[in-house]
Parts: sequence; C-alpha cells; structure tokens
Amino acid sequence: MKKVHFMSETGYLGPGRAPAPDIPAEVFRLAVEQAALAISITDAKARILYCNPTFQRVTGYAGDEILGQNESVLSYKVTPMLVYETLWAQILRQRPWNGLLVNRRKDGSRYLAELTITPVVDAAGKTSHYLGMHRDVTEVHRLERQVQNQKTQIESVVDAAPVAIVMLDERERVVLDNQEYKKLIGELGPEPAATLLAALRADLGELFERARYSGRGFAGREVRHAVDGRKTRWFACSGTWIDEQDGSADAFYEPARRQYMLLVIQDITALKEQQEAIRVNALRAVLAEQERIQGLRETLSGAIFQLQTPFNMLAAAVRMIERQPDGTMAEAFTASLEEALVSGNRTLDTLRACVPSQSDETIGPVDLNALLKDLLRLLTPRLLADGITVTWQPADLPLISGRPTRLATLFKALLENAIDAIHESREDRRELRLATQADPDWVEVVVEDSGPGIPEEWRYKVFEPFFTTKGAGRQHIGMGLSAAQEVVIGHGGLIELTSAPDGGCRARVQLPTT
Ligand code: FAD
Repeated sequence: MKKVHFMSETGYLGPGRAPAPDIPAEVFRLAVEQAALAISITDAKARILYCNPTFQRVTGYAGDEILGQNESVLSYKVTPMLVYETLWAQILRQRPWNGLLVNRRKDGSRYLAELTITPVVDAAGKTSHYLGMHRDVTEVHRLERQVQNQKTQIESVVDAAPVAIVMLDERERVVLDNQEYKKLIGELGPEPAATLLAALRADLGELFERARYSGRGFAGREVRHAVDGRKTRWFACSGTWIDEQDGSADAFYEPARRQYMLLVIQDITALKEQQEAIRVNALRAVLAEQERIQGLRETLSGAIFQLQTPFNMLAAAVRMIERQPDGTMAEAFTASLEEALVSGNRTLDTLRACVPSQSDETIGPVDLNALLKDLLRLLTPRLLADGITVTWQPADLPLISGRPTRLATLFKALLENAIDAIHESREDRRELRLATQADPDWVEVVVEDSGPGIPEEWRYKVFEPFFTTKGAGRQHIGMGLSAAQEVVIGHGGLIELTSAPDGGCRARVQLPTT
C-alpha cells in the first residue's frame, strides 16, 4: 500500500500519520470521486491532473476538456492580483491556503468559490502536487450581503429617527443605540437609559414585569429626568421586548433565547413646558376673575358693614323719639326719620343684592403638589422682584377631592401674605418655604416666611373679616385670611397661623384625604 502524506493547518504531518492508515487507497479515491466538494489535484505548476464529478458540475467543464489546463482557466480577472500572490506565497511555503476567488465557468457565468489549497509533499519534503477543494458560496454570500445591507438600511433608518432608540440586553447593558441616544448621553451624562428605566420601574410598579412577560410592552409613559443643578427634562418612553435565537454552536440543536429590550425615548420637555405655560396662564386668568369677584364682594360687604352702623343708630333714635310724651312734633319728625330709614334699608338691600355670589365650583380630584407648583410659577416674578429664596419640599401626596379654583385662591392668598410679609421686613434673610406632607387621613401644606411674624394676640383675630396687620394706605382690607378660612372650612379642613421656628409666620393647612 502506498504511503500517503498529509498537511495539517500548520504544516506537514509526515508519512504514517494519516488518521486512518488501514483504509485502502481505493477508498480514498472513491471518497474523493464521490465527494460533494469540487476537488482537483494539480502538479506543482497548478496544471490540473485530476478533477472529480462535482468539480465538473460546478465549473461546467468536462474532465477531458480541463485536464492538463492550469487552474487559472477558472480565474475571472476581478479577483485582485494580490490575492493570487498571497495564495502562491502561502502554498509555496507548504502551507494550506483558504480564501475566496471569483471563478468563471465554461459558459462564462461567474460564481464565488471558497477554495482551500493543500500542498501535497512527497517523502523527500518536496511539493509534488496540490489538492484544491472548493464550493460555490455565491448564494451564501448573496444572503450574507442581503442581511448586511438590510442591517445597514435599518441602522441608517434608526439613526435618522428623531427619537432616541436604544437596545438593552438582559443585564440592561446597551448593545445598540442611535445618534439621538448618543446626543442624550452628551446632554444627560452616561447611560440615560438606566436612569429612565429606574424611573419607569418606579412609575409602572408590577406593570413593568407584566409588560415584559405579556409581550405587550408599554407605550408613551412620561418620565421626569431631574438632576440637581440641571434643567428638568421630560421623556415619553415606549418599551418592547424582543426575543433573539442564540447563535452559538451549543444552542444549534437546543435553541436558547435571549431577550432584548428596545427602548424608544422621545424628548417631550418643550411640549411639557408649553402645556405648563398654558395651564399656568389659565390658572392666572381664573384667579384674576376670582379676585375681581372677591374684591367686589369685599368692597360691597365693607360698604354694607359701614352703612349698617349709622342706620342702626337712626333706628334707635326713632324709637327714642317715639317714646317722648308730647307727640305732634315728634310724629312729624319720626315720620321723616322712618322714611329715611326705609329708603336707607332699601339701599342696603340693593347693595346686598349686588354682592356677587360664590360660583358653585364642582368638586373633583386635586393634585395639590401640581397646584402649588403652578402657583409658585405664577408668583415667580414677585418672588424674583423681592429676591426671595424659595424652598419647595413636596411629599408624595394622594389626590384629594376639592374645588381646584377655591384651593388655588386659598394657597395664593397664603403665599402672597408670606411674600408681603417678607417684602415689608427689612431682614437680610428672605426665605419662603412651601412644603407638603401626607398622613393617612390628611394632607398638610405649610407656608413659612422669614417676615416679622404675627403676635400671639393676633393669631385668631387675623381670620376676622376686615382685620389687617398691613400698613395703612395699602389696598388690602384684610379679607384674605377670612376668605382663606372659609375655603378651608368648606373643604372640611383646618388652618392655623403660628410662629415659624426661625421667626416669621407659619401657615399650616390640613385638608382631609377623603
Ligand atoms: P498568474 O500569472 O497565473 O498568477 C498570478 C500570480 O500568482 C503570479 O504573478 C505569481 O505571483 C503567482 N503564481 C502563479 N502561478 C505560480 C506558480 N506556479 N508558482 C509561483 N507563483 C505563481 N485560481 C482561480 O482563479 N480559481 C481557482 O479555482 C483556482 N484553483 C486553484 C487550485 C489549485 C490546486 C492551485 C494550485 C491553484 C489554483 N488557482 C485558482 C490559482 C491559479 O493557478 C492562478 O494562479 C490564478 O488563477 C491566477 O491566474 P492568472 O493567469 O490570472 O495569473
């Protein structure tokens, strides 16, 4: 039996190191003959000495047409010369070469050949022949290119999208992102997806996991991104989970799946700001109208209150005169006084009828934090003008049921009182603290100012109509707190004024949650 010499990937194995030395040479010949690979054996100059039927089928050449010809008969000149040079440099060093060549069939059509050339080395260590094995990989290449092209197209579409798109693996590491997401990193710092996901988890609670396992995902969830010292940003986030087949060899027969999360992030800060501005403007308009009506009520009530006293005195005078013994002169005098009294009371009734009634606002759910924040925004110009530092400490509050405009009027009055107090004080410290707190039965709002505070003896008096602690000459007749108390009582709540820990005044309002 002839000795067969083999080359490994790294070099010559030598005689006798064949994987199956007991197999007859005829079996090797038949195996090559029947192989599904295009196999050729050439001399050292690449002249074809043998080719198997698959070679003939792939190239289109019959055996007798091609035997004796150089393998270069298959070459199509788009393959760069460097490729052939590398091929030859490798095989001349008795090393196998593997690569891709563009081949031309007998009919002129081209195909992509994945070729392995193995030098066959004789016992003297000389390359006597070459073994060429190739297969047509045109279709595989076409499909690969198609996938690559589609990937490129998808990537450019994703990159051009006006929203940030990011794909996260199971450990929430970013595996793919687009230009908009990269822009977000630049603006918000590293990995905004992690921060947004944490906020989404907090917001969605168990719905987050349900969205994942149901396969439905979530859409358009608004998330706030607030970092100290930076402008608050708002994002609308949508999440979808995508299953991917594991491409590793282990998973070939036992498919394993990996899950990725596709997170689409849309910056809605501008929209939110616009909505906020619209809301604050609407609140401003409603409160201005409320204040106009309240002002009218106060003026008319004040006038009635003022007029009532002389009329009472007049009535008392009539009664006194009526009791005098000599009647004639008294009768005439009483008659005219009574006439004056009747017409005066008529005037009072007319005035009372002119007092506008409080509009009957419907009770609905109220987000106190949002309302207070809107009021702060509304009062920002005044706060800035007075150089007041605001500390806003909202707690997580449940919605309460109430009359939103009335409540807005109440808290606006408290905040304006605080601003007025700070304005009037000559202190360097100009601070206003607005805080909310929740209790199972109550929600509490605290307004503290660094103004002069309210003396103990005025703590209850300030809630009386027409009582004011503010300087004369101001257009404030002291109805603010009495009206505020009316609103609080109307909501079943409590209001009290005490001294703030650092001086100043603290207004505390408690409203029931149910
Ligand atoms: P060539 O002038 O033949 O070769 C280009 C360069 O290759 C030369 O400049 C030179 O640097 C080097 N070169 C060529 N022949 C030799 C040599 N005998 N010794 C040293 N250096 C040399 N080519 C295909 O296109 N398709 C195939 O399927 C294919 N199968 C092959 C199978 C085997 C077993 C072998 C040994 C070679 C095969 N070749 C194949 C390579 C082929 O022999 C040619 O080198 C190639 O086709 C380029 O031919 P060419 O006429 O364009 O240029």
